[in-house]
Amino acid sequence: MTKEKLIILGSGPAGFTASIYAARAELAPLVFEGSEPGGQLIGTTEVENFPGFPKGITGPQLMNDMREQAKRFGAKTIFKSIDKVDFSNVKNLKLYSGTEEYSAKCVIIATGASARWLPLEKGEKYKGKGYSACATCDGAFFREKTVAVVGGGDSAIEEADFLTRFTTKVYLIHRRDEFRASKAMQARMETNEKIEPLYNKTISDMRGENLLESVELTDTVTNKKSELELNGLFVAIGHTPNTKFLDRAIDLDERGFIQIQNHTHTNIPSVFVAGDVADPHYQQAITAAGGGCMAALDAEKYLAGL
Ligand code: NAP
Repeated sequence: MTKEKLIILGSGPAGFTASIYAARAELAPLVFEGSEPGGQLIGTTEVENFPGFPKGITGPQLMNDMREQAKRFGAKTIFKSIDKVDFSNVKNLKLYSGTEEYSAKCVIIATGASARWLPLEKGEKYKGKGYSACATCDGAFFREKTVAVVGGGDSAIEEADFLTRFTTKVYLIHRRDEFRASKAMQARMETNEKIEPLYNKTISDMRGENLLESVELTDTVTNKKSELELNGLFVAIGHTPNTKFLDRAIDLDERGFIQIQNHTHTNIPSVFVAGDVADPHYQQAITAAGGGCMAALDAEKYLAGL
């Protein structure tokens, strides 16, 4: 068993910013990078809205740079996930990765959020065979093909727009008759001739011998069913916070996001939080990074007071 002052869970902008601040405060944090090292930005191409990069930067480059910056000041990173915690003793927090046990005086949770999938029975069958939750990761496999994106938010339009770089046609399937995406994003959709929005439609079935070949659509107004032939289906219907491993060891809201008490504090005085895992609203790399900084400062103050 290893004993740490501070353990940070997560390696997205929140986790690494917390690591940089904590390492510079000489707390030598141990960072669990989790199952998706670098977090969601690893699956993106160009990041154009992170300040300081006037020409943009790729998501993987940004995250590798953050990791290097944290390590330069003494953060220790390991490519493991924590799958169980015991926070019953607030002065000796226990964390488990398989059979390995870790303990810490203080923990920052920055485990982010993961893409949601449609509640379809055949979903598992077609994952990686035409069904994807990451256009930037898989889009290039659909050169000169027809695909669809499901969702009505900013992510759905952003993904549809991105996919038109490769594909001949992108259907944008939304369950209502108006998009919740920002006006600027909707304008992007309207000016892209390859995108065709399909309103009031949900996907009720998936078909195809081995690869996905078509989906069954159900009209949410008339209940009529129709078939849409396609080669790829991309889902962009929001994210679920990665809090399952906590097994309610700390307070969560009804959607599973960690409840923030005051700035980055949770209901446990030695556990702090940063980024998308507690943010159903903004979900931006820069807000996550800001949260990481705040959580590290709060953790530092807590540790200094012990
Ligand atoms: P979101 O705004 O929560 O939108 C999710 C969409 O999926 C909604 O349109 C929702 O429909 C639909 N949906 C949910 N469950 C569904 C289901 N079971 N079947 C069919 N459709 C379903 O999520 P997001 O687009 O990922 O955006 C999250 C946050 O990140 C937002 O704050 C957004 O502004 C931000 N973001 C910003 C940018 C940017 O500025 N460049 C890019 C991406 C994301 P309803 O509308 O009917 O609820």
